[in-house]
Amino acid sequence: MTVLVINSGSSSLKYAVVNPATGQSLADGIVEEIGSGPVPDHEAALRIVHEVLASQGMHLDTLGLTAVGHRVVHGGTIFYRPTVIDDALVAKLEELSPLAPLHNPPAILGIEVARKLLPDLPHIAVFDTAFFHRLPEAAATYAIDREIAQRWQVRRYGFHGTSHEYVSRQAAAFLDQPYDSLNQIVLHLGSGASVSAIAGGCPVDTSMGMTPMEGLVMGTRSGDVDPGLIMYLWRTAGMSVEAIETMLNRHSGMLGLAGQNDFRKVHELIECGDENAQSAYDVYIHRLRKYIGGYLAVLGRTDVLSFTAGVGENNAAVRRDALAGLIGLGIEIDEELNAVRSGQARRISTPDSRVTVLVVPTNEELAIARAVAAVT
Ligand code: ADP
Repeated sequence: MTVLVINSGSSSLKYAVVNPATGQSLADGIVEEIGSGPVPDHEAALRIVHEVLASQGMHLDTLGLTAVGHRVVHGGTIFYRPTVIDDALVAKLEELSPLAPLHNPPAILGIEVARKLLPDLPHIAVFDTAFFHRLPEAAATYAIDREIAQRWQVRRYGFHGTSHEYVSRQAAAFLDQPYDSLNQIVLHLGSGASVSAIAGGCPVDTSMGMTPMEGLVMGTRSGDVDPGLIMYLWRTAGMSVEAIETMLNRHSGMLGLAGQNDFRKVHELIECGDENAQSAYDVYIHRLRKYIGGYLAVLGRTDVLSFTAGVGENNAAVRRDALAGLIGLGIEIDEELNAVRSGQARRISTPDSRVTVLVVPTNEELAIARAVAAVT
């Protein structure tokens, strides 16, 4: 089996050609700046993928592709299993778009152009909300008027589910323990960032909510804010809903506070004495520690805590500072192990640490390809 995995965003299209049985990635890449000059739309982006693969001697028609897997951010309350895409499903995804106006429309565009280009292959939607569809009601419910919440499907859905499930299963495999015997915290720290608490293989809380804006400080997203500030900025500062949404999604987080959303640049600024960058870092770490503490309490007993994604896998300072001084809570990092750079899953806690702390590389493309393989 060979699966083409497509992750279609508003201005970028990520792709990977993956063998789900061996885990081997035959090719992967990203087409960026969709909507600007040379890449006017998603169809052009997919044609570029076609050409790039062909230039590497991989022709989509002769590659032996067995299916195409599409990452879809929001499955609403209806979709959580990997689902074969047909016209009816596309129509239902369009109905869900108001729930995820920034994410689902570009995924639908990606699906439509890929179905046109590869009409003979099964196309499968894999939902980022899937893993969290069984979140306990106590974690999934906002304390707002019940009738309004039900009428408008306002609840906490959770995102990055593919990564949280993959990493937590990898962590169990690394420790050679049954998945359902472990209580885990997974910190997915990339451009987007989220934490999950997983008890015996079942997610019991996660930091992203109705949209991927809630929770941790992210590259360009604010994470938690007082909803009162939205009304205040609308009413008093005269900002439109669109302007507030754009600010919270694209001009907040590390970018909003430090002027940089790439952590490597934030550290460079800190080293030059930039106070805003230092303050942004402090806010990021403070929020992270608050969630870690919260999830230790939600789980009661925590066996494993894993860091993953760009920042989690590569930034030893963030790992150190997020867990500094938590010996009283059973968490102790070995500074030397933490400083080691590696692309492999690894332990970074001391032998005495009651909670085992790991760095576990995520691989959402492989997880999507496996989900696709399971239904085709
Ligand atoms: P996404 O997949 O959500 O776009 P990533 O998981 O690639 O994001 O994470 C992006 C973040 O990871 C950036 O802030 C970047 O600075 C950080 N990052 C990626 N690689 C490294 C590295 N080698 N060292 C330090 N930080 C890194």
